[in-house]
Amino acid sequence: MTYHPADDRYDQMIYRRCGNSGLKLPVVSLGLWHNFGEDTPHTTKREICQTAFDRGITHFDLANNYGPPPGSAETAFGEILRTDFAGYRDELIISSKAGYNMWPGPYGEFGSRKYLIASCDQSLKRMGLDYVDIFYSHRFDPNTPLEETMGALDHIVRSGRALYVGISSYNSERTRQAASILKDLGTPCVIHQPSYNMLNRWVERDGLKTTLTELGIGSIAFTPLAQGMLTNKYLKGVPQGSRATQGKSLAQDKISDEAIEKIRGLNAIAERRSQTLAQMALAWVLRDGGITTALIGASRASQVVDCAGVVAKLDFTENELAEIDALATD
Ligand code: NDP
Repeated sequence: MTYHPADDRYDQMIYRRCGNSGLKLPVVSLGLWHNFGEDTPHTTKREICQTAFDRGITHFDLANNYGPPPGSAETAFGEILRTDFAGYRDELIISSKAGYNMWPGPYGEFGSRKYLIASCDQSLKRMGLDYVDIFYSHRFDPNTPLEETMGALDHIVRSGRALYVGISSYNSERTRQAASILKDLGTPCVIHQPSYNMLNRWVERDGLKTTLTELGIGSIAFTPLAQGMLTNKYLKGVPQGSRATQGKSLAQDKISDEAIEKIRGLNAIAERRSQTLAQMALAWVLRDGGITTALIGASRASQVVDCAGVVAKLDFTENELAEIDALATD
């Protein structure tokens, strides 16, 4: 069936400027790390993407290695771009990344110019795109000069393969170095993608959040729901089919009795705020404006609807924040 996006999609979302750039991003973005590989039916992937766009989620985040197998999430998204989003390319912000292991041999991972440019070309081919909106160095490479990695990002923009560039999971000190090199090259670092949620606050301890604000770099927080732990999913234990049962990135032993007790306490705070725990977790990540957008994942369309509902209540009282801190620390 032909897909027509909801006419009121832009009334349902809030958009924030990404750092000092001209780019605006929705406060909720959708990532395709899980549930977009060959182990998920294509109809589910289409429903998730269509529902996101219907709610004003214009930003879709990918990487070369998302699958399984690696690359298959980009292939599936390329198909959705052709069947559903063909007339809407200029309404979408599509990102990809390179950094993790992608192909055998010495040129298939990390941060060399050889790898980044080849990987970007492969991603464009899989998605059937002329350019991505944002291209990232997915991780810092301790063995490649930062000048080379940043030089490759600059080239990727100058050659028309990407409009903006960013870095992911670089600490505060390396972010300052990377941003300075990019500035000198004339291609600003527009966005940083770190992990961040109530249970994982390294960006605060490291000073990264302050650094990004100081440098005028926007940010997109990945795993804002702690891979599902900060939702109503695990309130009564570990349900079949949840990510914690799949033996992948979320170890089942993280959902201990003690963790569930705390999640229940957080859920009670969310209920008092008349929102779901997922919505409160996203509002928390976005609470002081230091983070531009929360980058969620979803295994079904209804989760996207729930998460997009965060826009109804983004503010917190000092009391609520203190109550959250008493239950959720990393
Ligand atoms: P989340 O913390 O948002 O976890 C997503 C999972 O939470 C879903 O798969 C689902 O679990 C559950 N969930 C989501 N919404 C709800 C809801 N409303 N109610 C109940 N359960 C819900 O993020 P991800 O870990 O998926 O990461 C998000 C994105 O971040 C990735 O797709 C990727 O784009 C990016 N990322 C980037 C990394 C990097 O190195 N730069 C690393 C990791 C992620 P279930 O499947 O059990 O239903």
